[in-house]
Amino acid sequence: MARLYESRKRILVTGGAGFLGSHLIDRLIDQGHEVLCVDNLFTGTKRNVDHLHDEPRFEFMRHDVTQPLVVEVDEIYNLACPASPIHYQHDPVQTTKTSVHGAINMLGLAKRLKCKIFQASTSEVYGDPNVHPQPEEYWGNVNPIGPRSCYDEGKRCAETLFFDYHRQHALEIKVARIFNTYGPRMHHADGRVVSNFIVQALQGQDITIYGDGSQTRSFCFASDLIEGFLRLMATGTDVTGPVNLGNPGEFTMLELAETVIELTGSKSKLTFMDLPADDPKQRRPDISKAKELLDWTPTIELKEGLTNTIAYFERRLPEIMGR
Ligand code: NAD
Ligand code: UDP
Ligand code: UDP
Repeated sequence: MARLYESRKRILVTGGAGFLGSHLIDRLIDQGHEVLCVDNLFTGTKRNVDHLHDEPRFEFMRHDVTQPLVVEVDEIYNLACPASPIHYQHDPVQTTKTSVHGAINMLGLAKRLKCKIFQASTSEVYGDPNVHPQPEEYWGNVNPIGPRSCYDEGKRCAETLFFDYHRQHALEIKVARIFNTYGPRMHHADGRVVSNFIVQALQGQDITIYGDGSQTRSFCFASDLIEGFLRLMATGTDVTGPVNLGNPGEFTMLELAETVIELTGSKSKLTFMDLPADDPKQRRPDISKAKELLDWTPTIELKEGLTNTIAYFERRLPEIMGR
């Protein structure tokens, strides 16, 4: 990997001790940059960045982005926010505050520093979509008062703030709409489907299918997604996004369960449970814009990514099972 010491930047990553943030930091450190990781460790863990402990270009700061932050950096990636329904519904008011007050503080910081700022937005801004697959032009179908609204509406408001800071204060913004992503360092107990199925299969427990399992999702492997982040951040001032980043391969939850059982060689059976409220029936990104603007397309097939993720959870299984 080419080192960029001549163009070393100081880069702030909020939510850097989380699943995606820690992978992003690995890439930035690898490129020769200095990274300030800001995280309140609500869903993230220091274990995700432990391997950087002796890296002089890495610094960790425990801080909640709903509070003002005064630091000096050249670029900001704003990822701080719990991402899984179990976690973001645990304290919904705090979730909205993290998205909205967090965005205001990070935008205020970017405004003072006159620096570029990236926002980790989400496919949830499309809600339970009436248009399939979802292009960026689609405005979405979101329930404003349901159990997912703290996250969906929080992220929508954050996008509004990013575009108003862009128009009103000429801030350089980069908004990515991330679709379901998986890989090593996912939280094992956050209830997301990939980690649930893998951990259940490895333990020989029943695989929990919500509803009849016919709902679809599209799963992007973490390394592919992070490549998309870096390419979006490297674009010129004319590119603001929003840009969909995700893998257009679409699978039903039944297909996912069968693939996980096959790859783990597990004897687990399927069990069917109630579908959670407002659970989107289908989701697949239209990534034409990312292809055109970033020359980006995911490269890791589902089976390859799952094999890699299964290996991670296998290594962590004794700890997960409390042994
Ligand atoms: P994660 O929960 O692993 O990481 C989020 C990080 O933010 C955690 O380390 C958490 O401790 C931190 N955090 C939460 N509230 C904070 C606060 N108030 N102040 C400081 N830190 C705070 O989740 P992730 O999957 O890595 O998601 C990262 C970002 O990407 C999130 O903004 C999420 O909404 C977005 N996203 C993720 C996915 C996905 O599939 N993983 C999909 C769409 C969008
Ligand atoms: N802010 C921050 N760090 C900074 C500059 C601003 O955390 O270095 C926060 C500050 O708390 C403020 C928010 O960002 O509430 C928005 O800043 P902005 O300048 O846009 O608004 P104002 O300060 O005028 O309300
Ligand atoms: N899901 C499931 N079993 C599980 C966890 C989730 O069938 O143990 C389903 C869930 O109902 C949803 C899909 O898998 O339809 C993806 O869920 P996840 O929480 O991972 O992501 P999101 O709904 O936010 O896309």
